[in-house]
Amino acid sequence: MRHIAIIGSGPAGYYTAEAAQKLWGDDVRVDIFDMLPVPYGLIRTGVAPDHQSIKGVSRRYESTALSENVRFVGNVTIGEDISIPELQELYDAVVLATGAPNDKAAGIPGEGLENVFGSAAFVGWYNGHPQFAKLGPDLTVNTAVVIGNGNVALDVARILSKTAEEFSGSDIVAHALHALQKSHIERIVILGRRGPHQIAMTPKELGELAHLTRACPRVDPADLPPVDDDLFLEPGQRKSVGHLRGFAAIPEEFRCDKPVEIDFDFFASPRAILGDERVTGIEVERTALDSDGRASGTGETYTIDCGLIITCIGYKTSPIPGVPFEESAGRFANDEGRIVPGLYCVGWARRGPSGTIGTNRPDGFAVVESIAADLSSGVLGHGGKQGRPGFDQLAEARGLDIVTFRDWKKIEAVEEARARSGAPREKFVHVEDMIKALDS
Ligand code: NAP
Repeated sequence: MRHIAIIGSGPAGYYTAEAAQKLWGDDVRVDIFDMLPVPYGLIRTGVAPDHQSIKGVSRRYESTALSENVRFVGNVTIGEDISIPELQELYDAVVLATGAPNDKAAGIPGEGLENVFGSAAFVGWYNGHPQFAKLGPDLTVNTAVVIGNGNVALDVARILSKTAEEFSGSDIVAHALHALQKSHIERIVILGRRGPHQIAMTPKELGELAHLTRACPRVDPADLPPVDDDLFLEPGQRKSVGHLRGFAAIPEEFRCDKPVEIDFDFFASPRAILGDERVTGIEVERTALDSDGRASGTGETYTIDCGLIITCIGYKTSPIPGVPFEESAGRFANDEGRIVPGLYCVGWARRGPSGTIGTNRPDGFAVVESIAADLSSGVLGHGGKQGRPGFDQLAEARGLDIVTFRDWKKIEAVEEARARSGAPREKFVHVEDMIKALDS
């Protein structure tokens, strides 16, 4: 029997469990740990609440989760309730599937001012992550600046623009919906340090901006390269740039019909966030592309007055004491998923925050291949680990209040029952309330 512990119940965790099950069938036991009492990580608290079809992938994980040899062990914090070395004593392989939950810093003055947030915090807030439920962003400001030209910047700009009706069918949490209904935002500036050809936005997500009830995207035609240059782009990127060209062609009269403007400001690099205690503006430097395609400052600066800033410039993994970490890339130091014998990483914790949810599937299968090779070669010792029974003993001795997958299904049923009309669920945003729901 092989005993595998996976830390993190997001896509990378469940794809790894699926791969282990496919390879070893009944000869493996997989325990998937999560610090929250609820599973699915990024699917629950990262994917935008109005993108329910993407969240639907969790149904696939459920079939893995419900199988006999895979177990969800929620409400267990690694490093507090049990350490990595203790897990390594108990399991043949420990796989870190902890994602990249922390914001990269922009490294500019003023990042600590009030009403300046990283996207991990802001997205966590509107998605009901317990860590960010109390974030309390003030949306009663005229202008918001969103820094970054990736899909997260698009998610944030779209969520800030939507009407309550446009959230019907979504699982945006009540506190965020309430704050958005009282929003005064009329202008959202999306700052890109490079140009339209360098965006990291995908066509479907970009195209959504053209169909918002009360917001209209705006692109300065002067920022667009000659149309023939689009031929050198790969097809997806060409489609995205096509959307930007469409936005640039929207007549001014039509734009004026809508009260919110989503303004793409390209070749614009943030230099300093301004304000005393609270943000009042951002200083930006105009850039030009150098011969390597990087943004170089031109020396020309200007200020955008704004009362809210959200940096959407990428994420990093949380380091774990004693586990080698590659600071510059924001992920665990690893060789094809191997950290040290018996300790592996997968998904964003392995490769950094890139790719789609589906990219984590081959990652999960690859790490299981590595584990299989290491088990065969004897690198991981000669078996005899206690696995589940050993963990259960330790959990009992420590009085851990473990949440099982069956428990989660109870929490889920209560969340579904308390959903507002048309919504799939109303998430609990505090761990205590999730635990209390188990008694209902
Ligand atoms: P991303 O795709 O890596 O984009 C980060 C953006 O931030 C880039 O435009 C980057 O510009 C910019 N940036 C980085 N550092 C900066 C700085 N110091 N100052 C100004 N700009 C800076 O990251 P993401 O948007 O966080 O997305 C993470 C991953 O999740 C991506 O793979 C994304 O596709 C995926 N995702 C997918 C969806 C979806 O499919 N619906 C939704 C959300 C996220 P440069 O290019 O110049 O570095």
